Formats: sequence, structure tokens, C-alpha cells
Amino acid sequence: MSLATQYDMSFKILLIGDSGVGKSSLLLSFISNSTEDISPTIGVDFKIKQLTVGGKRLKLTIWDTAYDVTRRDTFTSLSGIWAKEVERYSTNQDCVKMLIGNKVDKDSERFVSKEEGIALADELGCLFFECSATTLENVHQCFEELASKIMEVPSLVEEGSTIVKKTILMQKPEDQSMPNDGCCS
Ligand code: GDP
Repeated sequence: MSLATQYDMSFKILLIGDSGVGKSSLLLSFISNSTEDISPTIGVDFKIKQLTVGGKRLKLTIWDTAYDVTRRDTFTSLSGIWAKEVERYSTNQDCVKMLIGNKVDKDSERFVSKEEGIALADELGCLFFECSATTLENVHQCFEELASKIMEVPSLVEEGSTIVKKTILMQKPEDQSMPNDGCCS
């Protein structure tokens, strides 16, 4: 059976965020966090993962963007840069956004608190998760929750369709250059 007939819905997920926050690592962790449903890389920019959520077989096409921005405060970049990019380029206003704070395994080096993450996600209209691409903590849950929320949005759901809908996933890293009022540790 070909991939095209193996799923009920197809979603597109885009990982965006400053360079070095762990987007590629998160994608690879999610893709290889299973002995099944692993598809070969097509090109260099995206990977396909099949996932069953709520009894529906989903095909997730996850794009790993190659933004190469100058390293700086990656948390403030979320509202300063990435949220604006999403607004500007999103083709569907209903797209589901998730803010992810990665590298929680380095808790002693944490410079952005979970509360700050939650507050920013709320402000930007995003779901929120913290995870670690290294330990795999919460990695699967991030994508499953995202997929599950997408499924609740009628305009993003096309059962049995090959039309790919857009979903944006943003990352909040544990950047070390937070302003003083943003530190937590
Ligand atoms: P990208 O530029 O956003 O794609 O970031 P990368 O995936 O290339 O990761 C940048 C660096 O952070 C690499 O050295 C990774 O090994 C490291 N990294 C990524 N995720 C984690 C994590 O969850 N925990 C820790 N400790 N390091 C991570």
C-alpha cells in the first residue's frame, strides 16, 4: 500500500525559531522515537511521520526551516520576529501554533521560566509545551497534542485528502541572554 492511501488526514508542520534552539534535534528525536512509521528523508528540508491520534491515521510533513539569524536573545525573538513571520506568511488564519521551550534537561542553566513561557504563549495565541530533544521528555506529547488540536479545527481537516494544511510550531529555547527581568534561576 502506498503512503498516499495509508492515512486519513495530512498536516503540514513548520518548525521555526532561532538557530541553535534545537529544531533539528527535536525533529530527529520525534522521527526516531519509534521503531515504526519512520520514513526516509525526502530532500533535506522535511521529514514525514505517521501518527495515529484519536483513531485517525495522520501523515505529518514536518519542515525544518534553515533560518540562519544572528545569535541573540531567542526568547524575545519569538514575539519580535517569529510571531510576525507567522502572521505574514500563514495562509490559513486558523493555523494551530505551539510555543515549545526545548532543552529542559539543562534545568540548572534555565534562563526562561515555564511561567514566562506560558504567559508569552498566551499572548501569542499559542499552545505551550516544554520538552527535551535530548532525553525525549515530552517530545512525542508535543506533536500529539499539536495534531490533536489541528484535528479540532474544521478548516484544517481534510479527511482522505492530499491537500496539506499549514500548522506553525514555534520554539522557545533556553537562551542564555535573557534580559534581567526575564531570568528565573
Ligand atoms: P537548530 O539550529 O534549532 O536546528 O538546533 P540544533 O538541533 O542544531 O541544536 C543546537 C544544539 O543544541 C546542538 O548542539 C544540539 O545537540 C543541542 N540540543 C538540541 N536539543 C537539545 C536538548 O533538548 N537538550 C540539550 N541539552 N541540548 C540540545
